[in-house]
Order: sequence, then C-alpha cells, then structure tokens
Amino acid sequence: MSKDFNWSSFNMSRIRGLSKQVVYINLEDNHSNIPVKLPVMIVKGNTDGPTLTILGGVHGDEYEGPLAIRQLFEKINPSSLNGTFIGLPQSNPPAAEAGTRESPIDNLNLARVFPGNRTGTITHKIAHFISTKLIDKTDFLIDLHSSGTHISTPTLVGYDASAKGIVNGSKECALSFGVPTIWGHTTLSNGRSISYADSINIPWLYTECSGGGWLHTKEVELYKTGVLNVMRNLKMIKGKSSNIQPEFQLLGNGDMEESIAATVSGYLVPKVDMLSRVKKDQLLGEILGPANELLEEIKSPHNGVIVLIRRSPAVTEGESTFLVTGEVS
Ligand SMILES: [Zn+2]
Repeated sequence: MSKDFNWSSFNMSRIRGLSKQVVYINLEDNHSNIPVKLPVMIVKGNTDGPTLTILGGVHGDEYEGPLAIRQLFEKINPSSLNGTFIGLPQSNPPAAEAGTRESPIDNLNLARVFPGNRTGTITHKIAHFISTKLIDKTDFLIDLHSSGTHISTPTLVGYDASAKGIVNGSKECALSFGVPTIWGHTTLSNGRSISYADSINIPWLYTECSGGGWLHTKEVELYKTGVLNVMRNLKMIKGKSSNIQPEFQLLGNGDMEESIAATVSGYLVPKVDMLSRVKKDQLLGEILGPANELLEEIKSPHNGVIVLIRRSPAVTEGESTFLVTGEVS
C-alpha cells in the first residue's frame, strides 16, 4: 500500500498501529519547479515503543544504506515490533537518480544543510521535512552512509562520545551494532542530520563503509544486522544484540572535511593501508605528475589511525586525501 502526502498533511501520529506502508512526500524545488517524491517506509507496531528513524542515500552515490533499509522494511513484522520503524531508502531523490553526492538540481550537499528550511531550494526543503516531520518526533536516529565514489573508509559506526552520548545510549548502541570499528566524536560539524539530532538531544549513530561507487552486498548485510541489533538494544524487537568487542575504538573529529587536502593536482599513490597506525610526519602518500615527477609528499599531521583514503588516483588541489584520527586511550 502506498499513499501520497503533501508536506503539511503528513503527520506521523496519524499512522495507525500494526501497519506497514510506504508513503511518498511531494516536494518541489522553489526555483526550478522540479517535483520530487520522497519515499518514507513506515512499520508501526502494536505498542507505544520507541521510534527509530533510519536515513539512507543522503548522498546519492552511496548504495548500501538504501538497500539495507528496503530489505529491513520487508523483513520487519508489525506484530512483533514494539514501537515504530521509519526508513528513508532514498533521502535525497534527485542525487540518487543521478548517482551523485550533491543534488543535480541545486548542487547542494544534503549533509551540509540540516535542519534546512521550507523556502529554500530542494535540498533545503528535503532537510527541513526530515528534520521537522521525522527527526523531531524520533527517539533514535541512524544515518547510513558509505564513503561515496572517490574515497574509502573502513566499515564503521560513528557515535556520540560526549558525556551525553554515554547517558543517552549512543555509545551502547554503537557497541551493539556489531562491527569491528567504532568511532566516537565529541564535536560535530554543522549541517549533518546527526548534528541536528544532537542539537535537540536525540541520540544518534551513523555508519560508513568502503564506498567506491558500487554496491557492496556484504556491507548491506552488516548494516541490516547492525540495525536489528540496535533495535534489540532499544527493546523494539526481541533477542540479544551483539556483544562483539570492537578491534578499533577510534576517537576524533568525524568531519571528513578535516581530512588532509591535496595542495596540488595530480596522481595520488597511497603508501599506507586502511586502519594502519601511523606516526607524526610518516609518509601517507605521494602526488605524482604525468612523467612521475614528485609533486607532493603527504605526511601525517600527528600519531593516529588511518580512517580515510582517497581511492581515485586523479586528485584536484583541495580534495581530501587521508584522514588520521585518534584512539580511545
Ligand atoms: Zn555520505
């Protein structure tokens, strides 16, 4: 069953219990008048348990979250659900259709404009709908990312490492997700879904995985298992969540834009592996010219662990190359 709603007519409290449905929210770019339909998958259980909102495809070139959400929606049975599952398999429909990180309509990055606004271009409107109609009403937010076309990260869960995140369950849910790497943050850059959730005291997690511009089915399974583990932890479904002790407990600023930017354009050759421990000033990679000229040596700014590597060799001045983060001591 599916239904279309306009912005103002959608109200989560009117969704009846013991139901499973896809609703489409009709949005429109104020400048180009291009219509956009935002699909929202809702499974409502029999009781007033927690509401979990899961975003996939905030970036249109990240494919694992969107498929995990579709398959979770198919799998979850309303009669055995305590609370409400809300999944957005295509949080940024124009970017998903184009397979791009930014929206092709207004060239904006959805993960930089939360909480958005109602009068801006389409990316602002999408962020505003998700913020005011979903995140404001949720008890826990998970934003499933996966690095995008050009860069790679380990499969990881990011969580709130501040005192608040310890109390509100963010860290506990990150541990229960069941992946070998968790990454705690005490500060967040503005504009992300999780920074908006954080600002209104909604606990959050996000994920990353290897990216590369294609679908990694193993990561889809890890994401599905991880979300179900979080749902067990939140007592939305029965069973015990994972108690795998992570191999890497990373700690640092999770802003990918804090990564080391190339100072020249050229051909990037990494010299380190993902999750390797590096020392300050250790060589991380070289940028070469067309005749193998050494244009730049990229060195680690401090001791830490490699958590991001640019995998597309063609690099332009200013683009991210590596990110070195810390570890929980
Ligand atoms: Zn992303």
